[in-house]
Amino acid sequence: MTSQPASVPPAGASAASPGTSSTSVPSSAPGSVSSLRLRVGCGTDRGLRREMNEDSFIAADPVFAVADGMGGHEAGEVASGICVRTLSGMPQLATGERDATAALVQQYLRQADAGIREATGSRAGTTLSGVVVVEQLGVPYWLVLNIGDSRTYRLSKGELRQVSVDHSEVQELVDAGEITRAEAAVHPRRHVVTRALGTGDESEADYRLLPVEEGDRILVCSDGLNGELDDQHIARILASEPDPQAAVDELIQAALRSGGRDNVTCIVVDASNLADVDAARTAAER
Ligand code: MN
Repeated sequence: MTSQPASVPPAGASAASPGTSSTSVPSSAPGSVSSLRLRVGCGTDRGLRREMNEDSFIAADPVFAVADGMGGHEAGEVASGICVRTLSGMPQLATGERDATAALVQQYLRQADAGIREATGSRAGTTLSGVVVVEQLGVPYWLVLNIGDSRTYRLSKGELRQVSVDHSEVQELVDAGEITRAEAAVHPRRHVVTRALGTGDESEADYRLLPVEEGDRILVCSDGLNGELDDQHIARILASEPDPQAAVDELIQAALRSGGRDNVTCIVVDASNLADVDAARTAAER
């Protein structure tokens, strides 16, 4: 686990749960120590084959995360919903402060884990991936979190990188050098998740702290996106559509055109106006 404290405040944006439409959640941070400005797009779709949408998401500054519920008979929807509602209780959403830490987030995830177990008798679980924006001495960071196989990517200087590591059987095979990433994408056991909230033995997420760079674009998605589109396709759409909500809409439409076999959820967060951050960094290093 990596993390640390930070400083002050944004506001704006609302928590959202599944629906079949996309909503725009513009977000800015008046009065925060850094001048960081966030623009956000988000949306979710049931897809073309599933009867229900078991994905949930939260896009409320400073928390941007996607939960993909598993468990059938509405249990998956209950699990992802509990997860997102629990996270929305983080005080940072009310105060706008960017002082969250991995330890604090994990505390809420433990609470979500217990809540899901209680509500579903451990028959359901959920993934969770995304970012929490935190600041230290006026320097903003993406606190990347992940449990399961939903994904967080960063588009930086035209290059798309997955910044979360899947907790899945195929990822373990990739790590062991037994299959390639491309083979993993079509492997019959690609949907088997090795860690989740609400089920199994481990409810600890992975955390990673990345400095926010000017022009960063974060994509958080459920596997209904990356199961339909390869990373090159995702990168092309992200690079060609400057508006975050339009990028989300385009990604979801592309996943549907490709088959829409699963629920698909996307959040895009753009970071800009970091002009003063170099100065704060220099000050922080002294
Ligand atoms: Mn899914």
